[in-house]
Amino acid sequence: AFKYCFQRQMYDTSMRDGLTGVYNRRYFSQQIITDLSFAQRHHIACTLVILDIDHFKKVNDTYGHRTGDQVLITIAEAIGNVIRKEDILARYGGEEFALILPETDMAAAVQSAERLRASVATRLRQDVQLTISVGVACFPNQEQTVAALVRAADEALYSAKAKGKNCVVPAGGD
Ligand code: GH3
Ligand code: MG
Ligand code: MG
Repeated sequence: AFKYCFQRQMYDTSMRDGLTGVYNRRYFSQQIITDLSFAQRHHIACTLVILDIDHFKKVNDTYGHRTGDQVLITIAEAIGNVIRKEDILARYGGEEFALILPETDMAAAVQSAERLRASVATRLRQDVQLTISVGVACFPNQEQTVAALVRAADEALYSAKAKGKNCVVPAGGD
């Protein structure tokens, strides 16, 4: 396969989320465009994973906002530890993260997503069980545009929540 290579950017705070240190949504929005066009041009796969912490409001309500912040940092670290260097992890919203997996097809992405889910579920256990729900959407399986890819990953995440949380759902699965 074509080697995906680009110069790693220097650490730049304008690209980073201030709390967790992962990329911010602005950077993510630029990078997904670059990575999807690259995939289309070279006829390779590209996956978008969106994940959301389960019952996070309860963590804040039970332990306070500062503990909630610590949980966000810890989960970002846990995810950062199990992804590849070329993967892009970004804070997408309050307690939502987006993950771009370049050159990764649906089967491999679902395996990775399952690894993330399991890693968070084992590492982080307090009185409140900390877990994540995960939606996975892939080019070229279904999605041809960034907007459609994001929508599909979001819908898959929504299905994961509806199925009872702490699980991975691929887009277009049902
Ligand atoms: P679900 O399992 O369905 O995902 O429910 P949830 O409680 O995780 O989701 P909900 O959307 O009800 O609540 C999200 C909470 O995340 C509410 C908000 O106060 C909290 N939150 C968002 N950003 C931050 C942050 O930066 N720090 C902390 N401590 N909490 C945050
Ligand atoms: Mg949540
Ligand atoms: Mg949420």
